[in-house]
Amino acid sequence: MSLNGLDAKTFFEHEGGITYNDFILLPGYIDFSLDEINLETYLTRNLKIKRPIVSSPMDTVTESRMAISMAMLGGIGIIHYNNSIEMQAKEVRRVKRYENGFITDPVVLGPDNTIHDIDVLKETHGFSGIPITEDGTQNSKLIGIVTKRDIDFETDRTRKLKDVMTTQLVTAPAGISLAEGNSILKESKKGKLPIIDKQGRLVSLMSRTDLVKNADFPFSSKNKDKQLIVGAALSTREDDKERLDELVKAGVDIIVIDSSQGNSIFQINTIRHIKKKHPHVEVVGGNVVTAKQCKSLIDAGADALRIGMGSGSICITQDTLAVGRAQGSAVYHTAKFSKEYANVPVIADGGIAHIGHIVKALSLGASTVMMGGLLAGTSESPGEYFYEGGVRVKKYRGMASHEAMEKGGGKRYLSSEDRIKVAQGVTGTVVDKGSVINLVPYLIQSLLHSLQELGYRSIQELHSGIYEGTLRFEKRSQSAQAEGNVHSLYSFKEPHLGLLRMGR
Ligand code: GDP
Ligand code: 5GP
Repeated sequence: MSLNGLDAKTFFEHEGGITYNDFILLPGYIDFSLDEINLETYLTRNLKIKRPIVSSPMDTVTESRMAISMAMLGGIGIIHYNNSIEMQAKEVRRVKRYENGFITDPVVLGPDNTIHDIDVLKETHGFSGIPITEDGTQNSKLIGIVTKRDIDFETDRTRKLKDVMTTQLVTAPAGISLAEGNSILKESKKGKLPIIDKQGRLVSLMSRTDLVKNADFPFSSKNKDKQLIVGAALSTREDDKERLDELVKAGVDIIVIDSSQGNSIFQINTIRHIKKKHPHVEVVGGNVVTAKQCKSLIDAGADALRIGMGSGSICITQDTLAVGRAQGSAVYHTAKFSKEYANVPVIADGGIAHIGHIVKALSLGASTVMMGGLLAGTSESPGEYFYEGGVRVKKYRGMASHEAMEKGGGKRYLSSEDRIKVAQGVTGTVVDKGSVINLVPYLIQSLLHSLQELGYRSIQELHSGIYEGTLRFEKRSQSAQAEGNVHSLYSFKEPHLGLLRMGR
C-alpha cells in the first residue's frame, strides 16, 4: 500500500524554497490521549525546557516581564540589547530574582521625584504603581506609594511625589507565603502590596494584576537553584565583551548572538571568546539558513543554532538584499545537518504567522520555535497600547527598522558604522492579544492536538518520523491553501482575534 505524501528527504530535495504555507502534514494513527504527550525538548545542547517556545530578543517583545512569563510557562525569553549594558543586565537580574508572585527588585522612587518621572517609567516599563522610599532606593524606609489613581487627573506633571503619594499603606511582613500575600491583596482591594522588613524597608512588591498568574506553574523553566532561566542577546562587536561579562554577572543562562548572517569571522571569534571565558554559559549562534553556515558555528562551539533569514513578519531582507531562504527549507536542511553532524538543536526563528506554523517548524526538525510578532501585542511585551482605526494595538518593529536602529540597534546587521543605514525591517502594529499567560497555553494546547493527529507522543518521536520517513508531507497548491482557509462565508467570528489577524 502506498504511504501517500512524500517523506521529508524526497520532498525537500526536489522542491525549491518551501515556506510553512507550502506544505501540509498528513495524519497518522492515534492510540494515546493528549495527556500522554511530552513536549520536553532541547533548547541547546545542554539545556532542556518543557515547552518548545522562545520569545525573540526584540525591543517590542522581550524584556523581563515577557521573559518571566515565558519561563513560568515552560519556555524562555531572550532579553534584547537595544539598551545600555546596565539596563540589559538589570532585566536579566529581574528574571533571575523573580519569585513567583513577588517582585523582588521593584522600581522605586524618592519623595522629591516628580510625576513626570513616573510618566517616563510608565512609557519604558509599562507600569506606574511605584513605591516611594526615603532615599529613592530599596535600602531605605518605605514612606508611601504612588499609583495611577494618585496622578491620572493631575495636570501639573512637575509636582513632587511627596505631595501626591498615598501614605496610608497596607503592607505585609517579609517571609509571608504566596497564598498569604494573595489573600491580603484580595481582601485589601489595593493594587499593590509592599512587603517590608522589621526596619520598614521594602523587600518586595506584589501586584494585583499578577493574582491570576500567582498560581502554580508546573512546567516552569528553572535551574537547580530554582531560579527561572533566561537568555540575553549580544552583538559580535568588540565593545560587547563588557556587556557579556555584565550579563554573566547578572546570572544569564544563555547568550544568543544576534546577527542576520551568522557565518562571519566576527561571530566565530565571539563564540570562541564566550566558550573560553564563560564555559558554563550556553551559546546560541546564528542566524543561519544553510548547512555550510551551521558547520562554521558548530565548529566554533555553538550549543544551538538560530535559523531564519528574511522570514520574520517585520523583515524586508529578502526583498532588499536578495539574500535569505524560505523558512521551511532553511529549517529542514539546517536541522538535518546539525543533528547528523553534532546533535546540535536548532531554533526555528521567525515567520510563525499562524498557530499551525509552530508544529510545522518542529516537524522540519526544529527543537524549539522563536517568535516575535506572535508574542508582540501581549500585555507582557514592552510598550503601551493605543488605538488604530478603532482597534487596540501595540507597536511591533524590526530591530533593523530605521526606528529601532536610531535607538541604538543595527548591531545585528554589521551596518551600524555605515553612514547610510539600509533598513532590513519595518515598524508596524499588532493587535492586543491579552496576556501570554492565556495565549501560550492556547498555543500549547493546539500543538498537543497537532501531535496527536500526527500520531507522535513527543517532539523526539516527531523528529524520528522525519528522518525515518513515517511523517508524510504534501505540497499545497494555491487552491489547496484557499480551501484550507475559511471560505464561502458572508461573515464569521474569529476564534482568537489576535492570532487570525496577524496572518493578514
Ligand atoms: P501599574 O498599576 O501601572 O503598576 O501596572 P499593573 O499593576 O497593571 O502592571 C504591573 C505589571 O508589571 C505586573 O505584572 C508586575 O508584576 C510587573 N512589574 C514588574 N516589575 C515591576 C515593578 O518594579 N513595579 C511594578 N509596579 N510592577 C512591576
Ligand atoms: P516574527 O516572529 O515576527 O515573524 O519574526 C521575528 C524574527 O525576525 C526575529 O526573531 C528576528 O530573527 C527577525 N528580525 C527582527 N527584526 C528584524 C529586522 O528588522 N529585519 C529582519 N530581516 N529580521 C528581523
